[in-house]
Amino acid sequence: MAGISRAIRACAAASRRTLAAASGAALPKEEAAAAGAGVRAAATGRRGRDQEDGRRVQWVFLGCPGVGKGTYASRLSQLLGVPHIATGDLVRDALATPGPFSKKLAEIVNHGKLVSDEIIINLLSRRLEEGEEKGELGFILDGFPRTIRQAEILEGVTDIDLVINLKLREEALLAKCLGRRMCSQCGGNFNVASIDIEGENGGARMYMPPLLPPPQCESKLITRADDTEEVVKERLRVYHDLTEPVEEFYRTRGKLLEFNLPGGIPESWPKLLQALNIEDPDNKRSAAA
Ligand SMILES: [Zn+2]
Repeated sequence: MAGISRAIRACAAASRRTLAAASGAALPKEEAAAAGAGVRAAATGRRGRDQEDGRRVQWVFLGCPGVGKGTYASRLSQLLGVPHIATGDLVRDALATPGPFSKKLAEIVNHGKLVSDEIIINLLSRRLEEGEEKGELGFILDGFPRTIRQAEILEGVTDIDLVINLKLREEALLAKCLGRRMCSQCGGNFNVASIDIEGENGGARMYMPPLLPPPQCESKLITRADDTEEVVKERLRVYHDLTEPVEEFYRTRGKLLEFNLPGGIPESWPKLLQALNIEDPDNKRSAAA
């Protein structure tokens, strides 16, 4: 991935230069060609672990904030043996490092605004470099690309095999975001929202139970500063404005897999694996027993 992080940095620098000229970022097309043809991991089976050309999956997870893409991306990355790279985590790590940069970042995040392409690209390239030194292969990106410009930069430097677009009904999404709680002592994440919505157009009823904290955390729950209804709605609006074109970008390339979450994790996880043509390790275990 040396090529990726180098080229992403080069793109960031190039786009800084070309911004004044109002022309697009210069993309190193030759690197895109050198990366070779992508193979859709979903079609290879074998749990998607190794593709026909021997390299690991290079997937992207799209989805509204709060849809749970972090959870599914993290589970899949463990199953497939590739790193789960969440730009949200990169931003949170940067926020936790005291200094003027984290102060500026906190101001952006707490107002539900998106962090700029430039900041995200720099954080991501730093992360890829660290992984490269450890010999990582493949990746599942979560929260990137978020804009058309980021998608173009990524396309210029590496092949994305598959883009999984997770969808959840808006009313469930809002309730879920507002129900998020964190334990101020142990840092555990919980959700107090109990979602039970009638099916739409004869569809199945949607039920998502709360994820309640253990008794010792109950009195220590806090709500993240950016989980107010106003900020959540602003985040969804910004997401739709910027990211729907990214969905379209991958749709026209035949790489977008739309997945409507039918409910909580126990319902959704096996169906997601099925959609990805990945063997469910839990089913395998119970079949073997
Ligand atoms: Zn706790």
